Amino acid sequence: MKQKRLMFFAAAVLLLVCSLVFRMRPDDFSKSAAWRASKDCPRYSLEITFYPDDKRIDGRQSVTVKNTKKVELSELYFHLYPNAFKTPDAAPFPKSEMQLAYPDGFSPGYINIKKVEAASGNLQYEAKDTLLKVVPEKPLKPGQSLKLTMEFDEIIPPSCGRFGYGKNTYNIANWYPILAVYDDNGWNKDPYYAVGDPFYSDAGLYEVKIKAPSEYTIAASGYVADKKQDGSFSIWTFKTGLVRDFAWVASSRFKTASNEVGGVKITSFYLKEDAEYGEKALNYAARAIKFFSDFFGPYPYREYAVASSDFYIGGMEYPNLVMIGRQFYNGGDMLEYVVVHETAHQWWYGLVGNNEVKEPWLDEALAEFSTVLYYEKVYGRKSGQRIYEDFILNPYIFYEQTHSHSLGPVLRPLSEFNGWGEYDAIVYSRGAIMLKQLESIIGEDKFREAMRFYFKQNIYKNATTADFIKAVNKATGADWTDYIYSKMLKSQEPLQKAA
Ligand SMILES: [Zn+2]
Repeated sequence: MKQKRLMFFAAAVLLLVCSLVFRMRPDDFSKSAAWRASKDCPRYSLEITFYPDDKRIDGRQSVTVKNTKKVELSELYFHLYPNAFKTPDAAPFPKSEMQLAYPDGFSPGYINIKKVEAASGNLQYEAKDTLLKVVPEKPLKPGQSLKLTMEFDEIIPPSCGRFGYGKNTYNIANWYPILAVYDDNGWNKDPYYAVGDPFYSDAGLYEVKIKAPSEYTIAASGYVADKKQDGSFSIWTFKTGLVRDFAWVASSRFKTASNEVGGVKITSFYLKEDAEYGEKALNYAARAIKFFSDFFGPYPYREYAVASSDFYIGGMEYPNLVMIGRQFYNGGDMLEYVVVHETAHQWWYGLVGNNEVKEPWLDEALAEFSTVLYYEKVYGRKSGQRIYEDFILNPYIFYEQTHSHSLGPVLRPLSEFNGWGEYDAIVYSRGAIMLKQLESIIGEDKFREAMRFYFKQNIYKNATTADFIKAVNKATGADWTDYIYSKMLKSQEPLQKAA
């Protein structure tokens, strides 16, 4: 008996060593990439108070911005996305869905910037629509950093979208002044489009203190570093790893269930009457985090939260946090599909970012493709094929048959889509079909190699279509550039002809 135990012990040690060695290697690249990226990234520190009764948030934000470009920056730009909710005309919802977005009628939401200052004193700024322009005292030279502090208050609108509240939850996303991206095209000042996820940001580090009435539970990006009482309020301190946004969902009706997979704590936030499905959401999320970590590369964060939300659109991804429409917390197939799709975005959008305004196909088609992959590997090829046909191929073919006059390329910016129907069919479905075709041409192993390479090369950065093609070329040792651009991404041929 003893010997057996010893052997068991020796085997366990060996197993532990092997798994450590196995884990060290993929983790190493993400750790060193994080270390490199965190030297220059924006650092945000927010301190806010949440007054749900007044539908109001008050607070201040400090952000340190480093000029990593080769040119001087005489202006800095931040997005003020809450201002898109000021008027019914600007509200980022399709006109035909305003009733769903505002079930109790429209009321404005916005952010009001009260002050912007640096160590040198108050700075000149201009807040116009969804953009804040800040003028530093002197242009920021390459390599220089500037710490800005902003005071603001904001009103949360009664909308069941990314920023707003419904009967059960407050969805607080795209809610603070976030630094715009300065890239080869200069500052990206895109508005908040009603179609797609019109966001583009650099990865940064966040510390966010939220003072909220104690009866509220908060699901957020990052992890809870501290929580203490202050009268009838709780002060939550969230810290993050390197993430490209910070979002939170609050509810006085949340229950939670947690699990741990590969060192990541997964938490499902759900309404008490949905306990059965809250547990299911937890299991789907845990399985998806594990599958994608093994398949693409490690999930390098401590926590991942799946929050049931008053979110009529479906699901929405943020770093370490996804909002899942409460309507899916029932017995249907959709809950798993949506949780897995949003979890795939932790890799495609989250860890590997992209300009979702200019090249939305890159994260959406990869998330759809990854979802099918999950079903193929977890449930078997037949189930994967069924999901692919039901959720992607058949809806697309139906769209093509009914809209053949308006087919456009997969690769185009948000502004060139007329509505969600077209966007969904072309970007999500045709984009994913194109990836399936590419996978069948180059082979599953090479395709996986390409995805892993794409992940490793671009973690914490913003990637482009060219980076994706580079990964395919690298994995196959051949040049697919023209083929992918002309036959797949830019083609406007109906599917049957293009194939
Ligand atoms: Zn998506």
